[in-house]
Amino acid sequence: METRAYAVMAEKAELQPWSFDLRSVGSHDVQIAIEFSGVCHSDIHTGRSEWGDVHFPCVPGHEIVGRVSEVGAGVTTFTVGQRVGVGVYVDSCRTCANCLSGMSNYCLEGMTGTYNTPERDGKGVTQGGYATSIVVNQGYVVSIPDGLDPAGTAPLLCAGITLYSPLKEWGAGPGVKVGIIGLGGLGHMGVKFAKALGAHVTVLSHSASKKDDALAMGADEFLLTSDESVFVDHAKKFDLLINTVSAPLDLNLYLELLGLDGTLVMVGLSPEPYPIKAFSMLAQRRRIAGSMIGPVSQLQEMLNFAGEHNILSDVEVIDASYVNTSWDRVVASDVRYRFVIDASTF
Ligand code: NAP
Ligand code: ZN
Repeated sequence: METRAYAVMAEKAELQPWSFDLRSVGSHDVQIAIEFSGVCHSDIHTGRSEWGDVHFPCVPGHEIVGRVSEVGAGVTTFTVGQRVGVGVYVDSCRTCANCLSGMSNYCLEGMTGTYNTPERDGKGVTQGGYATSIVVNQGYVVSIPDGLDPAGTAPLLCAGITLYSPLKEWGAGPGVKVGIIGLGGLGHMGVKFAKALGAHVTVLSHSASKKDDALAMGADEFLLTSDESVFVDHAKKFDLLINTVSAPLDLNLYLELLGLDGTLVMVGLSPEPYPIKAFSMLAQRRRIAGSMIGPVSQLQEMLNFAGEHNILSDVEVIDASYVNTSWDRVVASDVRYRFVIDASTF
C-alpha cells in the first residue's frame, strides 16, 4: 500500500513530501492509519546527520498515535478501529537475555528503531511516523486508553516513556527531590510524571520565559541556570537529576547539586562528549547513569498511568508543511512543549 510521508531525501536536505510502499501486512502485523505524529529532537539529530550516517530517504517520527486499519491473521491483541500507539522501536531479536526478560529496548543485538534502521529480515530500512500509515509487528504496538486526547498522547510514546522509566527506576516519589534539567518535550513530561508520582519537582532551565509554564505544570520550584548562584545555593539538595538537554552542558556544575548517593541520569543526547571531573563524582558518592526510552510493557504501564491521571503533553498541532520550521524552532528551544503533526495533512 502506498503511504504519503515527509522525508529527508539526502544529507543537509530539508524534509519534503514523498510517497513509498509499505510492506504488506504479515500474519503478526498491525497496519495503522496514523492520526498524529510527534516531533522529537531525536528526529532532528538523525535527519540532520548529527549522530552519523543516515539511510536516505529517511521518514522520521517515533511518537505515533492512530487507528488500526488492518490486522494479520495471527493478531490476537488488536482489532480494526482500535486506537493504538507506536514508540521508538518496532522490533528486537526476541531471543537474547534482555529481550526474554522483557527489556527489549536494551536488546543485546540492538533494538530496531522505528525509522532509519535496517529491518531484521534484511528487506529495506524502517520508515517512521511522519506518514499516513505504518505496519508494525503486534508485539511493539500499545493500546491508548480511552479518553486520552490523541494529539496530546502522541508525545508520550517517546518523551513520556523516556522520563517515566528513569523516574520509576530511581524511585521518584514522596520525599524524593527530583530536578528536571531542560524544559522541552522530554522535560515537560518529566515534570508531569514526577509530580504525579509524588516527588518534589524542580525545573532547571536556561529559559527565564518558561518559569510560569513550569509552575503551572506542577513544578514546585524553577531555577534559572544562567544565574550562577543557583549552583551554590542549591548544592547537595537533590536526590535525582534527569538531564534532558540536547546540547553540551557543564555536568560538573549539575553534579554539585546532588546529595549523598544522588544520581544524575542522562537522557538528552548531545552529539558532543561531556568532560567529567572525578572530584565531582567522589564527593557525596554520586553516580551518573543513562536511560533509553523503556520496554514495551512499561510503555503500556505509562500510558495506563497517564490515562488514570489525565497526563498529556502540551502540544502545538501543526500541518506537515510546517515541519521544517518546527525543527528550527525546536533547536531554538522555542517549542511549548511539543510539535505534533496532524497526519491528515501529509
Ligand atoms: P527539546 O524539546 O529541544 O528540549 C531540550 C531542552 O534542552 C530545551 O527545551 C532547552 O530547555 C534545553 N536546551 C536546549 N539547548 C540548550 C543549550 N544550548 N543549553 C542549555 N539548555 C539547552 O528536545 P527533546 O525532544 O526533549 O529531546 C531532548 C534530548 O533527549 C535530545 O537530545 C534527544 O535526542 C534526546 N532523547 C533521548 C531519549 C532517550 O531514550 N534517552 C529519547 C528521546 C530523546 P530550557 O529552555 O528549559 O533550558
Ligand atoms: Zn524521541
